[in-house]
Amino acid sequence: MQYYSLNKQAPAVSFKEAVIKGLAPDKGLYFPSEIVKLDDSFFKSITQMSHVEIAFKVIESFVGNEIPEQDLKAILTDVLSFDFPLVEVKKDVFALELYHGPTLAFKDVGARFMARCLGYFNKKEKQQEEVTVLVATSGDTGGAVASGFYDVPGVNVVILYPSGKVSDIQEKQLTTMGKNITAIEVEGTFDDCQAMVKQAFLDGDFKGKRNLTSANSINVARWLPQMFYYFFTYKALVHLKKEIVFSVPSGNYGNICAGMMAQKMGLPIKHFITGTNVNNTVPHYLKAGEYLAKQSVATISNAMDVGDPSNFIRIQELHNRDIAKLRLNLTGYSFTDDQTREVMLDLYDNYKYVSDPHGAIGYAALEKYLSSQEALIGVFLETAHPVKFLDVLPEKIKKVVAIPESIIEIIKKEKKVERIFEYQELKTFLLK
Ligand SMILES: *Cc1c(COP(=O)(O)O)cnc(C)c1O
Repeated sequence: MQYYSLNKQAPAVSFKEAVIKGLAPDKGLYFPSEIVKLDDSFFKSITQMSHVEIAFKVIESFVGNEIPEQDLKAILTDVLSFDFPLVEVKKDVFALELYHGPTLAFKDVGARFMARCLGYFNKKEKQQEEVTVLVATSGDTGGAVASGFYDVPGVNVVILYPSGKVSDIQEKQLTTMGKNITAIEVEGTFDDCQAMVKQAFLDGDFKGKRNLTSANSINVARWLPQMFYYFFTYKALVHLKKEIVFSVPSGNYGNICAGMMAQKMGLPIKHFITGTNVNNTVPHYLKAGEYLAKQSVATISNAMDVGDPSNFIRIQELHNRDIAKLRLNLTGYSFTDDQTREVMLDLYDNYKYVSDPHGAIGYAALEKYLSSQEALIGVFLETAHPVKFLDVLPEKIKKVVAIPESIIEIIKKEKKVERIFEYQELKTFLLK
């Protein structure tokens, strides 16, 4: 499989090269040159297949022959070693809980898959070349990347996070790993962290000295495995014989875009709904027809505080850059923090369901859409465990959240970080 740059000013590359580079040299995102449809026999037998078998069929064409079948299956077995429960919140409305992985974030699947692909490519090279994964996090990405890449040979990971702006649990998750994982606490905002990462990628002084890559969802190996969730859901719900819509709480639009890739491969999905907080660039675009990139605003669903979503260009590519076509497949709604809290309370009071602020936005958007539709099954993606957002949960919900064992362990560990104020310090550190 070849991947081309969406800026069209760089040569097409293999899967391996796309994973190692992250972003194309012309700063475009990589996109697969072909989306192969799965045949009828796959969909007919899906209920008899295991998660690993399904995942293999789905990702096979995107990896091509660069990882042999047995190795790819071993990677997938390792990556998918936890549950993806569907909880029926009320009739025909399901929460797809994606937070049962090691760091309780849906990003675990993508981070683990990308890490294992990089580890595989490194092992194969005789002349082992080290790769440095550089990533900025507003909270959830950092933990998933730290855990996913821990102890992967030939890969060093450097994670930048804004001091005092991630939750205590999130901070522990990314600062207590050690070994090949370094956390850098930046005196500044998430935007400052992201700006430093971007500057490093553009900095010619690393050429020939460090292979820098990104572990954000712009990387195809982090983005594509998110397709699995949609196939697993179909497997679990196909017996209900109704059409399915998915509501996805969105920030950088990698997750929902992966769902659209699944649909392109033939998975019967009736419609997509995107829920956002007040960082509503995409819902605004769908309504008004103009795309206005904005500075992000801080909210209680902070993993979605994105003003200019990087994967939206992939969504446009999937819909022939035609807004009319996109509107037929995607509806968007945005919600304030007050509304988000109300929805968390509604879910708890009426259905005894404890959600986190991101999942609550997914549910709220789904409800809004379903109010004008009939005879559909609605699935909203619950993208993080509520325990990671304890400080913003309504008081009575906070009291009932069970603290998982892994969190109790991690809270006891000691934080280890490098502290920096500006780009030059990051550069010195990376070149050391
Ligand atoms: C990253 C994240 C999102 C947003 O996902 P995108 O793929 O960036 O749209 C939503 N919820 C949580 C909890 C996240 O960590």
